[in-house]
Amino acid sequence: MAAGRTLTGQSGGAARVALFGRGVRALADALAKLGVEVLLAEDPALAEYTGDGYVQAVRGLLESTKPRLLLVAHTAEGYDLAPAVAGALDLPLVTNAVGLRLDGDRLVVTRRLLNEKVQAEVEIGSDRTIVVTIRPGSVKAAGPAAGGTVIPTAVAVDATKARTRFVRIERPMVQDIDLAAADVIVSAGRGIQKKENLPLVEEFAKAVGGVVGASRPLTDMDWLPKTRQVGQSGKTVRPKLYVACGISGAMQHVAGMKDAGLIIAINTDPTAPIFEIAHIGFVADVLKLLPATIKELRA
Ligand SMILES: Cc1cc2nc3c(=O)[nH]c(=O)nc-3n(C[C@H](O)[C@H](O)[C@H](O)COP(=O)(O)OP(=O)(O)OC[C@H]3O[C@@H](n4cnc5c(N)ncnc54)[C@H](O)[C@@H]3O)c2cc1C
Repeated sequence: MAAGRTLTGQSGGAARVALFGRGVRALADALAKLGVEVLLAEDPALAEYTGDGYVQAVRGLLESTKPRLLLVAHTAEGYDLAPAVAGALDLPLVTNAVGLRLDGDRLVVTRRLLNEKVQAEVEIGSDRTIVVTIRPGSVKAAGPAAGGTVIPTAVAVDATKARTRFVRIERPMVQDIDLAAADVIVSAGRGIQKKENLPLVEEFAKAVGGVVGASRPLTDMDWLPKTRQVGQSGKTVRPKLYVACGISGAMQHVAGMKDAGLIIAINTDPTAPIFEIAHIGFVADVLKLLPATIKELRA
């Protein structure tokens, strides 16, 4: 929504949100508080996500509203839905965007390729709706604004045409914190040496009002759940403060956190790549610096 609002700020159009489901009026009202027009399409066939059902619903909505751009979250459902819609209606599609801007009447989409090694800008001019999936966390979240409304919208979904059927949701055994929503993240890397040092990182995170994230080796070794992993194959985060404790700064890690507001890195190796993106760097032993800092914070 934030990305849509920024673009319409430039183009002069209106950003609208389409919400599909059943019994989701409360969610529509919450979205409207962000100052947008919410097109609420409720239908029993949309209660749970199925590719075929949602494509029908989105198709109907696109035909009646004819937007210039359809933004879809780059989530497991989003990257199932967006190509299916683009394919069904023969629309241009760009996936996994991390940034969007207008250049005259052309849309310029930034995306990352080849395991995040390359950043590409894709320019599209089209008189048809452009479909783009945008990576969650890549844009600063939208804040509350006035003027939002909810507009109940009818969509035709023929459930008999859906080839897939929702069976059940299997939730993870352990529910964990939502790392992407945290303002302060203190991440531990292999530099913390052993699992027994994790409580130190947790204590420091608590002292600065944050939560603990991790580099991949730590979640691979099961020191922390997978939900805490920051990076290309983990979460993309955009906290106000990110403290990297004993993390080398491999590109796959950096891909998930480089847009944090303030990055502080602690590493014994002055040549560690993390210092290239850190705003503040400490060449120090994290196992000594953290206890000393906790002591100072308490004092
Ligand atoms: C396809 C693919 C996807 C990947 N996805 C991810 C991902 O999502 N997230 C991710 O994190 N990684 C990912 N990786 C792994 C990534 O390439 C790195 O291997 C990983 O990020 C390294 O983790 P690290 O920095 O904790 O460990 P290391 O690279 O081993 O770095 C440890 C650092 O700690 C420092 N250190 C040691 N002792 C201390 C001390 N006492 N005090 C302070 N500093 C100390 C060292 O100088 C070193 O810089 C992926 C790799 C591949 C191939």
